[in-house]
Amino acid sequence: MDEGDVAKDYADRHNRSAIDRVLAEARRPVGLSLEVCIDCGDEIPAERREKQPGSTRCVECQAVHERLEGGM
Ligand SMILES: [Zn+2]
Repeated sequence: MDEGDVAKDYADRHNRSAIDRVLAEARRPVGLSLEVCIDCGDEIPAERREKQPGSTRCVECQAVHERLEGGM
């Protein structure tokens, strides 16, 4: 493996993890919260998951997301 292969391998892996995340999100049963935030990967507290079924983001990321998306 030369340097180019290493870089390509890294890019592949990086892309794949992003794709995996999107696929995992798409397969998520409706109404079930994720255990980790899809934005930052931090754990979403169980309390938040119970209060907000379908949560996919931690409180901080959700707040940012709502500001950006205009209340989604
Ligand atoms: Zn987050």
